[in-house]
Amino acid sequence: MDSGSFQLPADVVEIVDLAKRIVQKELMPLEPEFLPHPGHAFGIKETTNLRTVFGSDVVEHLMKISRDTGLWYLMVPEQYGGTGLSMLAQVAILEQFNYTAVPFPFANVANILYQCEGDQVDRFLKPIIEGEMTTCFAQTEPNAGSDPGGMMQTRAVKDGGDWVLNGTKMWISGAAESDMIMVQAVTDPEKRQRGGITMFLVMRDNPGMHIEEPGIKTWLGPHASQYIVNFQDCRVPARDVLGEVGNGFRLGQRWLTIHDRLLRGPFALGKMQRSLDMSIEWAKQRVTFGKPLAERQAIQWQLVDMYIDLEALRALTYQMAARADAGEDIRAEAGMVKLTSMVWGARTVDKAIQIHGAMGEALELPLTLFYRYLRHGQIGGGANEIQRMQIARKLLRG
Ligand SMILES: Cc1cc2nc3c(=O)[nH]c(=O)nc-3n(C[C@H](O)[C@H](O)[C@H](O)COP(=O)(O)OP(=O)(O)OC[C@H]3O[C@@H](n4cnc5c(N)ncnc54)[C@H](O)[C@@H]3O)c2cc1C
Repeated sequence: MDSGSFQLPADVVEIVDLAKRIVQKELMPLEPEFLPHPGHAFGIKETTNLRTVFGSDVVEHLMKISRDTGLWYLMVPEQYGGTGLSMLAQVAILEQFNYTAVPFPFANVANILYQCEGDQVDRFLKPIIEGEMTTCFAQTEPNAGSDPGGMMQTRAVKDGGDWVLNGTKMWISGAAESDMIMVQAVTDPEKRQRGGITMFLVMRDNPGMHIEEPGIKTWLGPHASQYIVNFQDCRVPARDVLGEVGNGFRLGQRWLTIHDRLLRGPFALGKMQRSLDMSIEWAKQRVTFGKPLAERQAIQWQLVDMYIDLEALRALTYQMAARADAGEDIRAEAGMVKLTSMVWGARTVDKAIQIHGAMGEALELPLTLFYRYLRHGQIGGGANEIQRMQIARKLLRG
């Protein structure tokens, strides 16, 4: 990993090296079993994903490494026992773990949950940090994807000490595997995204919430992990509102800025580095018409283009992480990271598949899985067009 002009402190470089060693020694050897397994899924917690494929001995071993090294708390704020590492450091470390398709277990807590107050801290936040409870985020609906503020239909109405939710959410990753779902609902139809949408923490066993199983099958994995979730007179106690009533849309946007936009950078970088490394190795040893592929200019130029995308994305991602650390409002810039990481990432992996020929399509290599994840990222969590709209808004505002 070359951090370019970003001089990472020595202690962070040490953690980056540790991450690299864990990937090489612990995770890469598991890939041949993980990749063709029918159980792995996209968009669910790392630990849940690991448990569907491997025995508890493997999962416990990885959890122990994560906890013993402190990596488990990588993304957790210091006040809850976390490392207190900067975004830049987190990005550099996460890049390493994305070199392989095998997930590493982290306390992957949606940052909005740090808004938990009072007994919510013990009932939700702490168990989620410790991995004793899992959660997911429900914003999208059958008719509300790119424009959730304008089109959301799920309604919450106050009734005594409860809110009563009615409506349908769709495409909710990991709903069936979650103990609690963070649900956005309209509480003031006049205000909508400007103070009229609220975030509710709904327990999985709430009798008014029904998750349609087996879920929606996509090309992202053999195991369906996106679900339709119905709310029918679903009573949620007022104390299970996250943050303030009416502030749920803003909370969701704040989460998306870091988790679903900026952190797509390292998600893509690891995969791009791996694709380039694999392609160089393959091109050197695969011989056609009497010469290794690496000696053909057509192949060399593809490698060069992959390298340019990788270095450009790394520079952009690290810069935006450093600007987030400096307290800048990077909402539009995080959108740039999401857009470029997914577009440049997918085209980089596409080149790797082409260079590998038929082997590029084999499920025993991670390339097609990487490609599907990166191509999906051009839709999920705010499609390319929506990122462009938000960047344009910033450009034209002043
Ligand atoms: C695998 C997967 C996992 C997901 N996980 C979750 C989850 O966990 N939680 C959750 O809430 N949602 C989730 N989603 C939903 C996802 O965030 C939405 O699908 C996404 O935001 C796009 O919404 P849409 O599909 O309704 O597209 P639409 O809004 O119907 O848009 C269709 C196309 O038109 C483009 N478009 C829309 N408006 C404009 C415009 N004004 N100008 C130009 N182009 C425009 C869009 O960019 C898109 O390309 C998931 C989706 C998938 C596929």
